[in-house]
Amino acid sequence: MERISLRVLITALLLAVVLITVMHTVVSQYQFRRAALDYRADSISRVIEVAALEALRQARSQAITLGGSVQRRLQLHDPAALLIQLNAPFSKGYVEAGYLDLVALRAYDADLHLLGMDGQRDIAPLPTTVMQRLARRQGVERLKALGELWRTRDTPLYSVLVPVGGLHVEGYLEVVFNPLFNLLNVGDMIHMPLGIHDHQRAELLHPTDIDAHAPNYAAMEYALRSADGSVVLYLVAYADVDLLYADMRRIQFITTLSFFALTIAVLTLAFWLLNRHLFQPVQQLIGQMENAVHDENHALVTHRGIQEVHIVAASFNVMVARVREIIRELRRISAQDGLTGIANRRSFNQALEREWLRAMRQGTPLSVLLIDIDHFKQYNDHYGHQAGDECLKNIAATLSLAVQRPTDMVARYGGEEFVVLMPETDVAGAGAVARRMQHAVATLALPHESSGLGSVSMSVGLCTIIPARGQAAQRLIACADLALYRAKAAGRNRIEVAQASDWAALDTAAI
Ligand code: GH3
Ligand code: MG
Ligand code: MG
Repeated sequence: MERISLRVLITALLLAVVLITVMHTVVSQYQFRRAALDYRADSISRVIEVAALEALRQARSQAITLGGSVQRRLQLHDPAALLIQLNAPFSKGYVEAGYLDLVALRAYDADLHLLGMDGQRDIAPLPTTVMQRLARRQGVERLKALGELWRTRDTPLYSVLVPVGGLHVEGYLEVVFNPLFNLLNVGDMIHMPLGIHDHQRAELLHPTDIDAHAPNYAAMEYALRSADGSVVLYLVAYADVDLLYADMRRIQFITTLSFFALTIAVLTLAFWLLNRHLFQPVQQLIGQMENAVHDENHALVTHRGIQEVHIVAASFNVMVARVREIIRELRRISAQDGLTGIANRRSFNQALEREWLRAMRQGTPLSVLLIDIDHFKQYNDHYGHQAGDECLKNIAATLSLAVQRPTDMVARYGGEEFVVLMPETDVAGAGAVARRMQHAVATLALPHESSGLGSVSMSVGLCTIIPARGQAAQRLIACADLALYRAKAAGRNRIEVAQASDWAALDTAAI
């Protein structure tokens, strides 16, 4: 995760969103297409239904007319006469035969017992649903004809039951015809190629006028059912969906195009905004932060960009300012002596190394004074440590005031010892400074009863050298220390300058 930048992450997320939206668009357009087709199928199915019911209604009224004319002559109780009467429409040819595909005529008594029949003999008995409907009828209802679609094995049938006997119903005449003959017209009525399938979807009528060159025909069907709900026939209309598809393709094209245009516009705007107010400011912030971290003197970061970037930048600035202040303070503390406030031994050593090399390069003399307060142990013993500390502070301040060049340095070397570093200063100059310091301390006249002098004094070891290659800077201190030792030995309160013998002693000691 650390390797992934904000820009890459957000870009990937945006692209993922776009991908999902594109997929969603494609899927929803497919669904839309399906829904449009379903809707079309549904409305065409209604059209087929209306046309089919109309064709059946017409056929039924033909059958009622036939039944009406036959039942007037029927002699239900004379079997021989009955058979002749039932046979008449078949043998003589029925006037309505052009309108009906007559299958059978069956005569029943009032309780629906079969009395006689003619026509196709192997058809099944009247379905019980029809019988029940007939039995349920009351009063005047019973005088009306009743029509019902049904099926025997694979053959669709339509039965019309006409009451026989006028007002007093003596029985029924059943006109059975094949409705397929009448349904052939449905195609013409709805102006579409029509196919008819039986209940097992075997084709009974093949659509004739399908245009072989029009590639897109969608089959839309309507199921004609009997009273018990089982399918008798399927009417299948073949709708030319070329126009619908062309329409949908056009809508799809327009919506997809406008969607993509909108997406690209939104993405471009999003990237522009993100780039201007997030990516670039963050990038700039990171660069500035790195600079500020690595370079103490580098300017703080600028607060440009969105709120969060602004807050981060401002907080970073506050933190960096504080850290820098703390670093400065630490530096000051680490270079300063805690008691006297002048430079400590650590910063003196750094300055000595630096000036040693500079003097070596330039061939200039470098001088050092090593100063030690006389009988200071006794001072402490006599006046106490606090007074001793105050005395050290006084002397440190006095010594600091006594140097004049900015390159001169007064440092506390340790305990009651001070050191003065003077670049580009020869023995004479250094001697003058040493005397000035001694004089200044004497002028302070800090009382020191247990010293022979009565006031605080100091001994000074002075050493000057033009550094040579291969020598260590600490030789200068060691040499000044020898001079200081001689000053102490000679009775204190004096300045001793390092001599050739001191250097020789150092050589012997290999310092
Ligand atoms: P000499 O004249 O030989 O230099 O005698 P001295 O007593 O000054 O020498 P010595 O080195 O024996 O004693 C140094 C004393 O300085 C020891 C200690 O009591 C005192 N001293 C060192 N550092 C401090 C300090 O920070 N504060 C105080 N009050 N005294 C200190
Ligand atoms: Mg000492
Ligand atoms: Mg001392």
